Amino acid sequence: MSNNVIIIGAGPAGLTAAIYLGRSGIKSTVITGDSPGGQLAKTGLVENYPGFAKPILGSDLMAQMMEQTTNFGAEFLYDTVSCITNSLTSSTVVFDTGNSLTGDALLIATGCSNNKLNIPGETEFSRKGVSWCATCDGPLFRNKKVAVIGGGNSAIMEALFLSNFASEVLLVHRRDELRADKHEQEKLFKNPKIRCIWNSEVTEILGSTKVESIEIFDKQSKSRKIEIIDGIFIAIGNHPATSFVKGLIDLDSDGYIIADKTKTSVHGIYAAGDIVSGAIKQAVYAAGQGALAARMIEKQLGIR
Ligand code: NAP
Repeated sequence: MSNNVIIIGAGPAGLTAAIYLGRSGIKSTVITGDSPGGQLAKTGLVENYPGFAKPILGSDLMAQMMEQTTNFGAEFLYDTVSCITNSLTSSTVVFDTGNSLTGDALLIATGCSNNKLNIPGETEFSRKGVSWCATCDGPLFRNKKVAVIGGGNSAIMEALFLSNFASEVLLVHRRDELRADKHEQEKLFKNPKIRCIWNSEVTEILGSTKVESIEIFDKQSKSRKIEIIDGIFIAIGNHPATSFVKGLIDLDSDGYIIADKTKTSVHGIYAAGDIVSGAIKQAVYAAGQGALAARMIEKQLGIR
C-alpha cells in the first residue's frame, strides 16, 4: 500500500472514502481534528441510516465506522489542520503543531461546526452547564431541569434524548413552528417531560460557578423572564469548517466548498459531505459522497 491520500475529517464522508481507498490498495491518513466521528458521534439515536432496523446511537455508529476504516489500513492522526498548500503534483497540510504531511491527493470532509448564540454567559459557562452535545453531557443532568435551544431536527432529537434523564426539558424556539421533520415533532409533542416555549429567545445565561438560570425574551409580549435550569443545550445549526482553505479553493457565499462530483477548483483536492455547497446534510449522503471521492481519487492516481 502506498501512503498517499490525506483525508481531513473523520465523519461518514471521510471514513467511507478511507474504506473504499483501502479496498483499492491505497493507504490514507485520516486527520480527525478534535471531534473524531464528526457531528454524528454527538447525535443521539439515529433511525435513518440504512442497515440498522433498530435505532443506533450516533456515537456507536461512528465507533463502528472508525474500526471498519482501521481494518482497511487507514491511519488516524488526532491533529488539527491550520492551512493547506498545493502544487501540481501534491498537497501539504500544516498542523497547529507546526508539523506537516504531504499527499498526492487530499480530501476535505470537515463537515460543519456548531453555531453559537453569542450571548453573555455562553462561553463563560461552556462545559459548566452549556453544551452542544446531549449524547456527551445528557447523563450529567439526571433529575435536573434543562433547556434546549432551536427548532430543527437536532434540537428535537436533543430534547427527546435529554428527556430520558432530566426531570423537565424546556424547548425554547424563536418562532411558533418547528423546522424539524413531522415524525420528530410528533414524538416531541407526545413527550410529557418536554415543554415548548414559543416565539422566544434566550438572551443571557446566568450563574455563579455554573449555569443556574437563563433569561428568556418573549418576542410577542416583549417581556423577559428568568427560568431556573441546570443545563442548556444549544442546537441552532452549524456552519462550514472551511476557514483553513479560504483563498485556496472556490467557496460559495456561505463558505461551503464548490465541488463537481467531489472535485474542487484545485487539481488534487476533493471535498465530500456536509462541507460541500448544496449537499443534503445527511450521514447517508455524506457516506455516498465519500465513496464517490474515493473513486475520483483512484482515477487521478491511475488505479481506475
Ligand atoms: P437546522 O435544521 O438549520 O435548524 C436550526 C434551528 O435553530 C432552526 O429551528 C433555527 O430557527 C434555529 N436557530 C438558528 N439560529 C438561531 C439563533 N441565533 N437563535 C435561536 N435559534 C436559532 O439545524 P439542525 O437541526 O442542526 O440540522 C442540520 C441539518 O441536519 C438539517 O438538514 C437536519 O435535517 C439534519 N439533521 C438530521 C437528523 C436526522 O437524524 N434525520 C438529525 C439532526 C440533523 P428557525 O427555524 O427560525 O430558522
